[in-house]
Amino acid sequence: MAQRDYYEILGVPKNVDKAALKKAYRKIAMKYHPDRNPDDKAAEEKFKEAAEAYEVLNDPDKRARYDRFGHAGVNQGAGGRGGFTMDDIFSQFGDIFGDSGSPFESFFGGGRSSGRQRTGGQRGSNIRIKVSLSLEDIESGVTKKIKVKKQISCTSCKGSGAKDSSSVKSCGTCNGAGYVRQVKSTFLGQMQTTAACPTCKGAGQQITAKCGSCNGEGRTLDAEMIEIEIPAGVEDSMQLSMRGKGNAGMNGGPNGDLLINIEQKSHEHFSRDGMNVIHDLFLNFADAALGTSIEVPTLSGMVKIKIPAGTQAGKIFRLRGKGLPSVQSYGKGDQLINVNIWTPKKLSSEETKLLEKLRDMPNFKPNPGKSEKGFFERMKDYFHE
Ligand SMILES: [Zn+2]
Ligand SMILES: [Zn+2]
Repeated sequence: MAQRDYYEILGVPKNVDKAALKKAYRKIAMKYHPDRNPDDKAAEEKFKEAAEAYEVLNDPDKRARYDRFGHAGVNQGAGGRGGFTMDDIFSQFGDIFGDSGSPFESFFGGGRSSGRQRTGGQRGSNIRIKVSLSLEDIESGVTKKIKVKKQISCTSCKGSGAKDSSSVKSCGTCNGAGYVRQVKSTFLGQMQTTAACPTCKGAGQQITAKCGSCNGEGRTLDAEMIEIEIPAGVEDSMQLSMRGKGNAGMNGGPNGDLLINIEQKSHEHFSRDGMNVIHDLFLNFADAALGTSIEVPTLSGMVKIKIPAGTQAGKIFRLRGKGLPSVQSYGKGDQLINVNIWTPKKLSSEETKLLEKLRDMPNFKPNPGKSEKGFFERMKDYFHE
């Protein structure tokens, strides 16, 4: 089933600002809140959909990735709405409805605790992995297949932890719902709130015999091959997350997340400055004086550049668009070529003789003009461009 556009779900324009986004979401969340629409599946779906849209659009990183790659960019593609649970939604309310004194506080009963979802077992823990990328990988974006050791849902009992279907009994206290209703009086009138069932702790059922393969935990230690799509332009120590790809929950609880820490490998030719890559070029002094044409490496292969006669050490050549893309926006950085003049460290007697001859020639006496900028002037230019 195709997912709906997040902006459309919240009824906001593409350029919506934070305040307007929050307002739009608040309105929809109020309308479809489960406490106002008890046992209305369609309202619950709308409620979840809006929460997911808000979660993405309210996060500048996720929003940028969504704008660029659509649903696939925010890693919720494969499993559809994936592990986005009522628990996640209620945890948002601290942010959106949390201002103290708000009339919504009593309505939402303080958030998480009022989650009417079957909380079931415990949520699986997050898994953190490190992915090392070359600058070339970062320039193009890359898909990495990585084997991750983790708790997966038990295949024998499908995560329930029960021996077989006859060893699962519906909970008598809550009649299998996993929650119990309470009616509270608030200044907005009588409010129906819900709480996790104290007997089954929200699972809705009780197990009379445990699954032998997982000893009733509902999960086992295994490994999974995970395809991680890494967008172009990521930076060292950035963190990506894949919801629900962490450890499986216990007794049918939701999965944790997979957290991916980006590590940038050092490169033999380049260093990085944001979206720009910097290359140190060493020219021999004759080439710098006479001018020449040479090949330099770029992230997309060798490129020929012209060195004009009289090039000074410290000159910076700029190859437009040969840098890195940004994760957040369109456009690309540049490659900056920093010129160094190579001074020979050893000389043959012939070389020494030639240089002795040149030493006192008139044009070899340093005579910097206004156009030969010193180090600080060049740095100023570079940062102000
Ligand atoms: Zn099992
Ligand atoms: Zn119960």
